[in-house]
Amino acid sequence: MSGIYIHVPFCKRKCDYCDFYSIVPTSEVRNFSKQIAHEIKIRNNYLADKTIDTIYFGGGTPSMLSVVEIESILNSIARNFSVNPNAEITIEANPDDLSLEYLQNTKSVGFNRISIGIQSFNDNDLKQLGRRHNALQAISSVQWAYRAQLNNISIDLIYGLPYSSTKIWEQNLRSAFDLPIKHLSCYHLIFEENTPLFNKMSSGGVRPVNEDLSVEQFEMLQKVANQNHFIHYEISNLALEGYYAQHNSSYWKQVPYLGLGPSAHSYNGTSRSWNPRSIKGWSEKMDSGVPATEVEELSPNDMINDYFLTSLRTIWGADLNYILENFGGNVAQRTLDTATKYAKRGIMNVKSDCISIKPEHFLVSDGIIVDFLV
Ligand code: SF4
Repeated sequence: MSGIYIHVPFCKRKCDYCDFYSIVPTSEVRNFSKQIAHEIKIRNNYLADKTIDTIYFGGGTPSMLSVVEIESILNSIARNFSVNPNAEITIEANPDDLSLEYLQNTKSVGFNRISIGIQSFNDNDLKQLGRRHNALQAISSVQWAYRAQLNNISIDLIYGLPYSSTKIWEQNLRSAFDLPIKHLSCYHLIFEENTPLFNKMSSGGVRPVNEDLSVEQFEMLQKVANQNHFIHYEISNLALEGYYAQHNSSYWKQVPYLGLGPSAHSYNGTSRSWNPRSIKGWSEKMDSGVPATEVEELSPNDMINDYFLTSLRTIWGADLNYILENFGGNVAQRTLDTATKYAKRGIMNVKSDCISIKPEHFLVSDGIIVDFLV
Protein backbone atom coordinates (compact mmCIF):
# COMPACT_ATOMS: atom_id res chain seq x y z
CA MET A 1 0.00 0.00 0.00
CA SER A 2 1.03 3.61 -0.47
CA GLY A 3 -0.53 7.03 -0.82
CA ILE A 4 -0.09 10.43 -2.43
CA TYR A 5 -0.85 13.73 -0.70
CA ILE A 6 -1.12 17.01 -2.63
CA HIS A 7 -0.91 20.20 -0.58
CA VAL A 8 -2.88 23.01 -2.26
CA PRO A 9 -1.55 26.08 -0.41
CA PHE A 10 -4.26 28.63 -1.15
CA CYS A 11 -7.01 30.16 0.96
CA LYS A 12 -9.32 33.04 0.13
CA ARG A 13 -8.57 34.45 3.56
CA LYS A 14 -6.58 33.11 6.52
CA CYS A 15 -8.67 31.85 9.45
CA ASP A 16 -7.64 33.36 12.80
CA TYR A 17 -6.49 30.09 14.39
CA CYS A 18 -4.76 28.39 11.45
CA ASP A 19 -1.03 27.74 11.10
CA PHE A 20 -1.11 25.43 8.06
CA TYR A 21 0.99 26.75 5.22
CA SER A 22 -1.25 28.66 2.84
CA ILE A 23 -1.33 32.04 1.17
CA VAL A 24 -4.02 34.29 -0.18
CA PRO A 25 -3.05 33.96 -3.83
CA THR A 26 -2.82 36.60 -6.51
CA SER A 27 -1.77 34.80 -9.70
CA GLU A 28 -0.15 31.68 -8.20
CA VAL A 29 -3.24 29.45 -8.49
CA ARG A 30 -3.21 29.34 -12.28
CA ASN A 31 0.27 27.77 -12.49
CA PHE A 32 -0.17 25.38 -9.62
CA SER A 33 -1.48 22.28 -11.42
CA LYS A 34 1.38 22.51 -13.94
CA GLN A 35 3.93 22.81 -11.12
CA ILE A 36 2.46 19.78 -9.35
CA ALA A 37 2.57 17.84 -12.64
CA HIS A 38 6.27 18.74 -12.86
CA GLU A 39 6.90 17.56 -9.29
CA ILE A 40 5.05 14.31 -10.02
CA LYS A 41 7.38 13.70 -12.97
CA ILE A 42 10.62 14.34 -11.11
CA ARG A 43 9.55 12.30 -8.08
CA ASN A 44 7.87 9.39 -9.84
CA ASN A 45 10.44 6.93 -8.46
CA TYR A 46 9.69 7.70 -4.83
CA LEU A 47 7.11 4.94 -4.47
CA ALA A 48 8.70 2.66 -7.06
CA ASP A 49 6.97 -0.73 -7.43
CA LYS A 50 4.15 0.30 -5.11
CA THR A 51 0.47 0.61 -5.92
CA ILE A 52 -1.18 3.88 -4.97
CA ASP A 53 -4.20 3.08 -2.81
CA THR A 54 -5.07 6.56 -1.61
CA ILE A 55 -4.85 10.07 -3.09
CA TYR A 56 -5.62 13.06 -0.88
CA PHE A 57 -5.93 16.71 -1.94
CA GLY A 58 -5.45 18.76 1.25
CA GLY A 59 -4.51 22.28 2.11
CA GLY A 60 -5.06 25.11 2.19
CA THR A 61 -8.16 24.87 0.11
CA PRO A 62 -8.11 22.38 -2.79
CA SER A 63 -11.62 23.47 -3.77
CA MET A 64 -10.07 26.76 -4.94
CA LEU A 65 -8.75 24.81 -7.94
CA SER A 66 -11.07 24.32 -10.90
CA VAL A 67 -12.26 20.82 -11.70
CA VAL A 68 -10.17 20.94 -14.90
CA GLU A 69 -7.06 21.65 -12.79
CA ILE A 70 -7.66 18.87 -10.28
CA GLU A 71 -8.48 16.47 -13.11
CA SER A 72 -5.17 17.29 -14.80
CA ILE A 73 -3.32 16.50 -11.54
CA LEU A 74 -5.14 13.17 -11.25
CA ASN A 75 -4.22 12.39 -14.86
CA SER A 76 -0.55 13.16 -14.16
CA ILE A 77 -0.62 10.80 -11.18
CA ALA A 78 -2.22 8.07 -13.32
CA ARG A 79 0.48 8.50 -16.00
CA ASN A 80 3.36 8.28 -13.52
CA PHE A 81 2.18 5.78 -10.90
CA SER A 82 0.27 2.55 -10.73
CA VAL A 83 -3.05 3.57 -9.16
CA ASN A 84 -5.39 0.98 -7.65
CA PRO A 85 -8.70 1.24 -9.60
CA ASN A 86 -10.50 1.22 -6.22
CA ALA A 87 -8.25 3.86 -4.66
CA GLU A 88 -9.76 6.19 -2.08
CA ILE A 89 -9.55 9.67 -3.67
CA THR A 90 -10.39 12.54 -1.31
CA ILE A 91 -10.72 16.28 -1.74
CA GLU A 92 -10.80 18.74 1.15
CA ALA A 93 -13.19 21.63 0.56
CA ASN A 94 -14.60 24.70 2.24
CA PRO A 95 -18.39 25.15 2.23
CA ASP A 96 -18.26 28.59 0.59
CA ASP A 97 -16.48 27.19 -2.50
CA LEU A 98 -19.00 24.45 -3.16
CA SER A 99 -21.95 24.21 -5.49
CA LEU A 100 -23.91 21.19 -6.65
CA GLU A 101 -22.34 21.52 -10.09
CA TYR A 102 -18.75 21.67 -8.72
CA LEU A 103 -19.41 18.58 -6.62
CA GLN A 104 -20.99 16.66 -9.52
CA ASN A 105 -17.97 17.48 -11.68
CA THR A 106 -15.58 16.51 -8.88
CA LYS A 107 -17.30 13.14 -8.63
CA SER A 108 -17.20 12.67 -12.41
CA VAL A 109 -13.40 13.10 -12.58
CA GLY A 110 -12.82 10.35 -10.01
CA PHE A 111 -13.18 11.64 -6.45
CA ASN A 112 -15.08 9.26 -4.18
CA ARG A 113 -14.64 11.00 -0.82
CA ILE A 114 -14.92 14.60 0.40
CA SER A 115 -13.77 16.21 3.63
CA ILE A 116 -15.60 19.50 4.30
CA GLY A 117 -14.09 22.07 6.70
CA ILE A 118 -17.27 23.02 8.54
CA GLN A 119 -15.79 23.61 12.04
CA SER A 120 -19.13 24.67 13.52
CA PHE A 121 -22.83 24.96 12.63
CA ASN A 122 -23.12 28.03 14.87
CA ASP A 123 -22.82 31.43 13.17
CA ASN A 124 -21.22 33.08 16.21
CA ASP A 125 -18.56 30.33 16.49
CA LEU A 126 -17.81 30.71 12.77
CA LYS A 127 -17.47 34.47 13.07
CA GLN A 128 -15.16 34.19 16.08
CA LEU A 129 -12.97 31.66 14.25
CA GLY A 130 -12.69 33.99 11.26
CA ARG A 131 -14.36 31.50 8.92
CA ARG A 132 -15.85 32.71 5.66
CA HIS A 133 -18.99 30.57 5.56
CA ASN A 134 -22.15 30.54 7.67
CA ALA A 135 -24.18 27.70 9.15
CA LEU A 136 -26.60 27.55 6.21
CA GLN A 137 -23.74 27.17 3.72
CA ALA A 138 -22.27 24.43 5.92
CA ILE A 139 -25.51 22.42 5.83
CA SER A 140 -26.06 23.00 2.09
CA SER A 141 -22.53 21.86 1.24
CA VAL A 142 -23.09 18.45 2.86
CA GLN A 143 -26.50 18.06 1.25
CA TRP A 144 -25.10 18.92 -2.18
CA ALA A 145 -22.21 16.48 -1.76
CA TYR A 146 -24.74 13.78 -0.99
CA ARG A 147 -26.89 14.72 -3.99
CA ALA A 148 -23.77 14.62 -6.17
CA GLN A 149 -23.30 11.03 -4.91
CA LEU A 150 -20.05 11.85 -3.21
CA ASN A 151 -21.48 9.64 -0.50
CA ASN A 152 -18.36 9.13 1.57
CA ILE A 153 -18.63 12.49 3.35
CA SER A 154 -16.41 13.59 6.21
CA ILE A 155 -16.69 16.90 8.05
CA ASP A 156 -14.35 18.70 10.47
CA LEU A 157 -15.58 20.30 13.70
CA ILE A 158 -13.68 22.22 16.40
CA TYR A 159 -14.45 22.13 20.12
CA GLY A 160 -12.95 23.83 23.16
CA LEU A 161 -13.87 27.26 21.79
CA PRO A 162 -13.44 30.01 24.42
CA TYR A 163 -16.49 31.97 23.31
CA SER A 164 -18.79 28.96 23.06
CA SER A 165 -20.32 26.41 25.45
CA THR A 166 -20.89 22.67 25.84
CA LYS A 167 -24.56 23.22 24.97
CA ILE A 168 -23.59 24.77 21.61
CA TRP A 169 -21.05 22.00 21.08
CA GLU A 170 -23.78 19.41 21.64
CA GLN A 171 -26.02 21.25 19.14
CA ASN A 172 -23.12 21.20 16.67
CA LEU A 173 -22.74 17.47 17.06
CA ARG A 174 -26.47 16.86 16.69
CA SER A 175 -26.52 19.04 13.54
CA ALA A 176 -23.65 16.98 12.15
CA PHE A 177 -25.37 13.66 12.78
CA ASP A 178 -28.62 14.95 11.23
CA LEU A 179 -26.68 15.09 7.95
CA PRO A 180 -25.66 12.11 5.80
CA ILE A 181 -22.04 12.01 7.00
CA LYS A 182 -19.96 8.85 7.31
CA HIS A 183 -16.91 10.31 9.04
CA LEU A 184 -16.22 13.09 11.53
CA SER A 185 -12.90 14.72 12.48
CA CYS A 186 -13.01 16.72 15.71
CA TYR A 187 -10.14 18.88 16.93
CA HIS A 188 -9.73 20.79 20.17
CA LEU A 189 -8.88 24.43 19.42
CA ILE A 190 -5.15 25.08 19.73
CA PHE A 191 -3.65 28.53 20.12
CA GLU A 192 -0.86 28.18 17.54
CA GLU A 193 1.97 30.66 17.81
CA ASN A 194 1.99 33.59 15.36
CA THR A 195 -1.70 33.29 14.53
CA PRO A 196 -4.14 36.19 15.11
CA LEU A 197 -5.87 34.05 17.75
CA PHE A 198 -2.60 33.50 19.63
CA ASN A 199 -1.85 37.22 19.52
CA LYS A 200 -5.33 37.95 20.85
CA MET A 201 -4.69 35.56 23.74
CA SER A 202 -1.29 37.14 24.41
CA SER A 203 -2.87 40.58 24.71
CA GLY A 204 -5.57 39.25 27.07
CA GLY A 205 -8.40 39.43 24.53
CA VAL A 206 -9.32 35.75 24.86
CA ARG A 207 -8.55 32.86 27.23
CA PRO A 208 -8.30 29.13 26.46
CA VAL A 209 -11.06 27.03 28.02
CA ASN A 210 -10.20 25.30 31.27
CA GLU A 211 -9.41 21.60 31.44
CA ASP A 212 -12.77 20.64 32.96
CA LEU A 213 -14.61 22.16 30.01
CA SER A 214 -12.32 20.39 27.54
CA VAL A 215 -13.05 17.06 29.24
CA GLU A 216 -16.80 17.80 29.35
CA GLN A 217 -16.88 18.53 25.61
CA PHE A 218 -14.72 15.52 24.78
CA GLU A 219 -17.14 13.32 26.75
CA MET A 220 -20.08 14.95 24.95
CA LEU A 221 -18.42 14.07 21.65
CA GLN A 222 -18.09 10.43 22.65
CA LYS A 223 -21.66 10.27 23.99
CA VAL A 224 -23.34 11.73 20.89
CA ALA A 225 -21.07 9.80 18.51
CA ASN A 226 -21.88 6.58 20.31
CA GLN A 227 -25.62 7.27 20.06
CA ASN A 228 -25.10 7.57 16.31
CA HIS A 229 -23.02 4.37 16.02
CA PHE A 230 -19.80 6.20 15.16
CA ILE A 231 -16.60 4.51 16.30
CA HIS A 232 -13.90 6.68 17.87
CA TYR A 233 -11.05 4.99 16.03
CA GLU A 234 -8.32 7.64 16.36
CA ILE A 235 -7.75 10.56 18.74
CA SER A 236 -9.44 13.07 16.42
CA ASN A 237 -11.40 10.80 14.09
CA LEU A 238 -14.69 8.95 14.29
CA ALA A 239 -16.57 7.02 11.62
CA LEU A 240 -19.21 4.48 10.83
CA GLU A 241 -17.80 0.96 10.52
CA GLY A 242 -16.25 0.59 7.06
CA TYR A 243 -15.68 4.33 6.60
CA TYR A 244 -12.38 4.84 8.40
CA ALA A 245 -10.24 7.33 6.45
CA GLN A 246 -7.87 5.08 4.53
CA HIS A 247 -5.43 7.84 3.61
CA ASN A 248 -5.10 9.19 7.16
CA SER A 249 -4.97 5.65 8.54
CA SER A 250 -1.91 5.02 6.42
CA TYR A 251 -0.05 7.72 8.41
CA TRP A 252 -0.79 5.78 11.59
CA LYS A 253 0.14 2.42 10.08
CA GLN A 254 3.61 3.22 8.68
CA VAL A 255 2.39 3.07 5.07
CA PRO A 256 4.73 5.00 2.71
CA TYR A 257 3.39 8.17 1.15
CA LEU A 258 4.56 10.87 -1.21
CA GLY A 259 3.73 14.49 -0.38
CA LEU A 260 3.59 17.00 -3.23
CA GLY A 261 3.39 20.78 -3.05
CA PRO A 262 4.86 23.37 -0.66
CA SER A 263 5.29 22.15 2.95
CA ALA A 264 4.18 18.59 2.09
CA HIS A 265 5.92 15.72 3.92
CA SER A 266 6.86 12.29 2.54
CA TYR A 267 7.77 8.98 4.19
CA ASN A 268 9.23 5.84 2.64
CA GLY A 269 9.82 3.60 5.66
CA THR A 270 13.44 4.60 6.24
CA SER A 271 13.43 8.37 5.85
CA ARG A 272 11.17 11.38 6.09
CA SER A 273 11.41 14.36 3.80
CA TRP A 274 9.66 17.67 3.54
CA ASN A 275 9.18 20.35 0.89
CA PRO A 276 9.94 24.04 1.51
CA ARG A 277 7.17 25.93 3.29
CA SER A 278 6.93 28.57 0.57
CA ILE A 279 5.67 28.46 -3.01
CA LYS A 280 8.70 30.44 -4.15
CA GLY A 281 11.26 28.14 -2.48
CA TRP A 282 9.43 25.04 -3.67
CA SER A 283 9.03 26.10 -7.30
CA GLU A 284 12.51 27.65 -7.68
CA LYS A 285 14.24 24.44 -6.60
CA MET A 286 12.05 22.29 -8.82
CA ASP A 287 12.70 24.55 -11.80
CA SER A 288 16.31 23.41 -11.57
CA GLY A 289 15.04 19.84 -12.18
CA VAL A 290 15.53 18.37 -8.70
CA PRO A 291 13.01 17.64 -5.95
CA ALA A 292 12.80 20.49 -3.46
CA THR A 293 13.04 18.21 -0.44
CA GLU A 294 15.09 18.08 2.73
CA VAL A 295 15.65 14.54 3.95
CA GLU A 296 16.09 13.01 7.40
CA GLU A 297 17.25 9.38 7.58
CA LEU A 298 15.50 7.67 10.47
CA SER A 299 17.67 6.10 13.20
CA PRO A 300 16.50 2.85 14.86
CA ASN A 301 15.26 4.89 17.84
CA ASP A 302 13.40 7.30 15.51
CA MET A 303 11.61 4.31 13.97
CA ILE A 304 10.61 2.95 17.38
CA ASN A 305 9.33 6.34 18.52
CA ASP A 306 7.50 6.95 15.24
CA TYR A 307 5.78 3.61 15.66
CA PHE A 308 4.46 4.45 19.14
CA LEU A 309 3.57 8.05 18.25
CA THR A 310 1.39 6.86 15.39
CA SER A 311 0.00 3.46 16.38
CA LEU A 312 -1.04 4.44 19.92
CA ARG A 313 -3.26 7.19 18.50
CA THR A 314 -5.65 4.49 17.26
CA ILE A 315 -7.96 1.81 18.64
CA TRP A 316 -5.81 -0.78 16.85
CA GLY A 317 -2.83 0.22 19.00
CA ALA A 318 0.68 -1.21 18.86
CA ASP A 319 1.32 -4.77 17.66
CA LEU A 320 3.55 -6.68 20.10
CA ASN A 321 4.69 -9.19 17.46
CA TYR A 322 5.67 -6.36 15.12
CA ILE A 323 7.64 -4.72 17.96
CA LEU A 324 9.40 -8.00 18.76
CA GLU A 325 10.32 -8.67 15.13
CA ASN A 326 11.39 -5.13 14.26
CA PHE A 327 12.71 -3.62 17.48
CA GLY A 328 13.78 -6.64 19.55
CA GLY A 329 12.88 -8.40 22.79
CA ASN A 330 13.95 -5.61 25.16
CA VAL A 331 11.67 -3.04 23.56
CA ALA A 332 8.81 -5.57 23.41
CA GLN A 333 9.19 -6.40 27.13
CA ARG A 334 9.46 -2.74 28.12
CA THR A 335 6.33 -1.98 26.05
CA LEU A 336 4.38 -4.76 27.73
CA ASP A 337 5.49 -3.65 31.22
CA THR A 338 4.50 -0.02 30.60
CA ALA A 339 1.16 -1.01 29.07
CA THR A 340 0.42 -3.37 31.99
CA LYS A 341 1.00 -0.48 34.41
CA TYR A 342 -1.63 1.57 32.55
CA ALA A 343 -3.98 -1.41 32.19
CA LYS A 344 -4.03 -1.78 36.00
CA ARG A 345 -5.33 1.80 36.18
CA GLY A 346 -8.00 1.02 33.56
CA ILE A 347 -6.40 3.27 30.94
CA MET A 348 -5.11 0.74 28.40
CA ASN A 349 -6.13 -2.58 26.90
CA VAL A 350 -3.48 -5.30 26.89
CA LYS A 351 -4.16 -8.33 24.71
CA SER A 352 -1.81 -11.18 23.81
CA ASP A 353 -0.74 -9.51 20.57
CA CYS A 354 -1.50 -5.81 20.96
CA ILE A 355 -1.80 -2.91 23.37
CA SER A 356 -4.00 0.17 22.95
CA ILE A 357 -5.23 3.24 24.79
CA LYS A 358 -8.94 3.06 25.61
CA PRO A 359 -10.82 5.70 23.55
CA GLU A 360 -12.20 7.37 26.71
CA HIS A 361 -8.57 8.31 27.52
CA PHE A 362 -7.64 9.58 24.04
CA LEU A 363 -7.78 13.16 25.32
CA VAL A 364 -4.71 12.55 27.50
CA SER A 365 -2.96 10.17 25.11
CA ASP A 366 0.04 12.46 24.55
CA GLY A 367 1.03 12.08 28.20
CA ILE A 368 0.66 8.29 27.99
CA ILE A 369 2.50 7.79 24.68
CA VAL A 370 5.54 9.66 25.99
CA ASP A 371 6.09 6.79 28.46
CA PHE A 372 6.61 4.37 25.55
CA LEU A 373 9.28 6.40 23.76
CA VAL A 374 12.97 5.42 23.86
S1 SF4 B 1 -9.47 27.51 5.22
FE1 SF4 B 1 -8.39 25.88 6.32
S2 SF4 B 1 -6.25 25.98 5.62
FE2 SF4 B 1 -7.27 27.93 5.00
S3 SF4 B 1 -6.80 29.36 6.65
FE3 SF4 B 1 -8.79 28.43 7.15
S4 SF4 B 1 -8.28 26.63 8.43
FE4 SF4 B 1 -6.38 27.29 7.43
